[in-house]
Amino acid sequence: MENLTTDLLVIGAGPGGYVAAIYAKRKGLDVVLVDREAIGGTCLNWGCIPTKALVRSAKFYNEILNSNDLGVEVNDAKIDLAKMIDRKDEITKKLVKGIEYLLDKHGVKVISGNASFKDSKTVEIKGETSYSVKAKDIIIATGSKPKHLPIEGIDLAITSKEILANKKLPKSLTIIGGGIIGMEFAFIYAQLGVSVNVVEFLPRILPGIDKELAMRLIPYAKKQGINIVTNAKVTKIKASKALKTVYYERKDKEETIASELVLEAVGRGPNVEELGLDNTDIDYDKKTGIKVNDSLETNIDDVFAIGDVNNLIQLAHAASHQAFIVVDNILGKNKTFSIQNIPSVIFTSPTIATVGITEEMAKAKELDYSVVKTPFSTNGKALILDAERGYIKLLKDNKTNHLIGAMILGEEAENLIATYTLAITNKLKPEEVYETVFAHPTIQELVHESALGLDKLAIHYIE
Ligand code: NAD
Repeated sequence: MENLTTDLLVIGAGPGGYVAAIYAKRKGLDVVLVDREAIGGTCLNWGCIPTKALVRSAKFYNEILNSNDLGVEVNDAKIDLAKMIDRKDEITKKLVKGIEYLLDKHGVKVISGNASFKDSKTVEIKGETSYSVKAKDIIIATGSKPKHLPIEGIDLAITSKEILANKKLPKSLTIIGGGIIGMEFAFIYAQLGVSVNVVEFLPRILPGIDKELAMRLIPYAKKQGINIVTNAKVTKIKASKALKTVYYERKDKEETIASELVLEAVGRGPNVEELGLDNTDIDYDKKTGIKVNDSLETNIDDVFAIGDVNNLIQLAHAASHQAFIVVDNILGKNKTFSIQNIPSVIFTSPTIATVGITEEMAKAKELDYSVVKTPFSTNGKALILDAERGYIKLLKDNKTNHLIGAMILGEEAENLIATYTLAITNKLKPEEVYETVFAHPTIQELVHESALGLDKLAIHYIE
């Protein structure tokens, strides 16, 4: 076993860990980065990037099916799922190689192996070469893994990681869980012509998202052929010939759905088990992850936890943001993390994107607020893009006149949300947005128009 000492040890090379490693190295720290699987973590290898590659293929196929609307006739469009999967793998490979190159170029020492605490300040890494590492600071960024229901036959269901490798298009798919992962895969597979069912435990899909937005997605899901069953508690899965039958309880009755493939997407839990945390005094819980304060430090000085493993919010960009905060704090700053202005995007069709507070939250906080809804159909570029579906809901606080929340259902929502995030994070007022010039004809003009609408000045629609 080799002994190593370093300024900073980062455990986990996902969008939390690799960003922390590169940023810390660029700021002059000596950095060791360890991962037991792949550089890029879940996000690059089995999460955000691969799913969005499939979203692109599925959407493109759907556009071809509707190409007549744009005056283009295409006959015999066919799906080659294996090719889509290969393309997704190529994109992932390219991005992972890019990160590996950058880590190397910046002089981060990357070790492949399993890291486990021996005590609060010493970590052992077991790999081809084994190391005992002592570091002034340690960042735990080990991410999360799919949760599993403790029910009979759950092994018959596949995970979001496994479905990303599936090259054979099934005729039918049942998804357990109508959360973010469930709904994204529901749209991907439905757009590829698969008969999709979503079985959700709660009375509604997408529980973390503004209710109105989630409800407005349902007609689009139905039109796409997605069958959504809510208030349904899955109790078992059984195999019968080529099909798998999902049993669930709904209104005290047992109901079933049979399909070729079953996907389980019932949330993700923190990766804490193999970290040797019981050899330390680090405060953690197997279900809710490693506990951190506002500065993302654990109860042990100089040991931090970022990303899914601290369970504050399970989003790649939040993990990267937390990485910057922690490295800055290690270097003497006093930054804190707030989940308030973290944008969230769900790649359904149409796409959903949100930032800031929802109308439900504004009501619960008894805020004096104004809200305006701006339809995509009022925007020229939206019509050009054949994207008139959807709307933007924008909120301001009447006392401060600051923008406080934006919710979008519609095309380009993932890009539009960046402008709102900038405005809300910087506490802009509506007039500061509409006194900015937005290029024409663009979807971004909806941002301008929605800010005007909040002050009852909309030009292209009646508020
Ligand atoms: P989730 O928490 O979003 O949804 C899980 C769903 O499963 C919930 O709606 C829950 O009620 C339901 N469920 C739980 N038990 C059930 C049961 N017995 N029967 C039926 N339904 C049941 O979790 P997820 O969709 O697995 O995603 C995990 C995390 O990954 C999320 O926190 C999300 O933020 C993140 N993620 C983000 C993106 C993105 O930003 N685009 C994409 C994918 C995943």
